[in-house]
Amino acid sequence: MLNFTHDPATKSWVPGAQSPGCDFTLQNLPLGVFVPEGRDPHPRGGIAIGDQVIDLACLAASGLLAEPAAAACRVAADSTLNAFMAMGKASWQALRHEVFKLLSSGADGKTQEQVRGCMLPLSRATMKMPVDVRNYTDFYTSLHHAVNVGRVMGRENPLTRNFQWLPIAYHGRASSIVVSGTGFRRPNGQSTAADRAPPAFGPCQKLDFELEMGFFVGPGSTLGEPVPLSQARDRIFGMCLLNDWSARDHQFWEMDPLGPFLGKNFCTSISPWIVSMEALEPYRVAFDRPAGDPQPLPYLEDAADRASGSLDVQLEVSLQSRRHRALNVPGDRITATSFRHQYWTVAQMLTQHTIGGCDLRSGDLMGTGTISGPTPDQAGAMVELSRGGARSVPLPGTGEMRTFLEDGDSVTIKGWCERPGFARVGFGECRGEVLPALDLGVS
Ligand code: CA
Repeated sequence: MLNFTHDPATKSWVPGAQSPGCDFTLQNLPLGVFVPEGRDPHPRGGIAIGDQVIDLACLAASGLLAEPAAAACRVAADSTLNAFMAMGKASWQALRHEVFKLLSSGADGKTQEQVRGCMLPLSRATMKMPVDVRNYTDFYTSLHHAVNVGRVMGRENPLTRNFQWLPIAYHGRASSIVVSGTGFRRPNGQSTAADRAPPAFGPCQKLDFELEMGFFVGPGSTLGEPVPLSQARDRIFGMCLLNDWSARDHQFWEMDPLGPFLGKNFCTSISPWIVSMEALEPYRVAFDRPAGDPQPLPYLEDAADRASGSLDVQLEVSLQSRRHRALNVPGDRITATSFRHQYWTVAQMLTQHTIGGCDLRSGDLMGTGTISGPTPDQAGAMVELSRGGARSVPLPGTGEMRTFLEDGDSVTIKGWCERPGFARVGFGECRGEVLPALDLGVS
């Protein structure tokens, strides 16, 4: 499935696109929605390259693109990417391939000059929510996370019996999804200090992050018509970084017997740039299921998904406290892992979502669930790193310790793909800061 847009030998004339560690290489071309500083203040679609963003409204009007790429560009220039996502793979590919040519060193000087006229530095772009997310579903697909959390919750068998048979999920809250850089207040709610004690109302005492990725639905599906696994891959537009902020004390009290509610619905952060599945193609890896484990039921089994359904995306989380900022030092990295360790693939998640007849809409967001790797230092949430609060996580930059998040803590997720023989493809970052709880004057 590789093509000329994956060739690392093709360079770009855009400064910075080849710099070591650059996320937004010529081979990436992620899409987002931004407001340009000092120009027409309406949000519009953009493509990031190096430290620049291309204004797609300007590019669409430039006459540089031939059909069908021009039509795709006009739609991608909209104030959300929903309509572009609905267009499907042929349109996504047409725009990517034509923009790749315009930005490659082979483009003539006049073309470069015209494209440069549609660019501005990322530092002068304010990123907005890239999609009008109408439906959000959060999965639970890391076996290591499920075991770690099961232990913290004191379950005799930390892994529930269903985990290895189906991608578990709950329907989340779309209204409280925010773009990276947006702060949120520590939630108030009910929790119990110990078993059988009456609950108390107040600010969350066990505020946590969850290292996740998200993926967006491209063309929607029809109510009553499941999407077979063999067709699921082409329904997915692309991926982002996602932080599913969690109030553990509220969650563990309320989540009996139903799924998460207030413990999860106060804020979910996503990164502003969406990396297309085509850009991620070189980083596909086999979906691996140990021989002793239950094998997927036939509707969750597909040869192509077996061969290349998983994705090797490197992920890391850093925490910057108020003290880090006062000392003017960077945050400390507190965990790192890869998305390849997930027990279920994104295609299996999408098929599971529709198999009972539920329809999908363009721009629907699916969270992959917390991403925890096989070793304790690869855990994707504080509740695991601190063993439910029993062990403090050191922040070497300031000498502070953490069991859960404190007010003023800023959490940043970064993600990228690297493989010998291919260009780096990065997601940028997903950042959010914990603001103090509202004093409601009640208890
Ligand atoms: Ca989650």
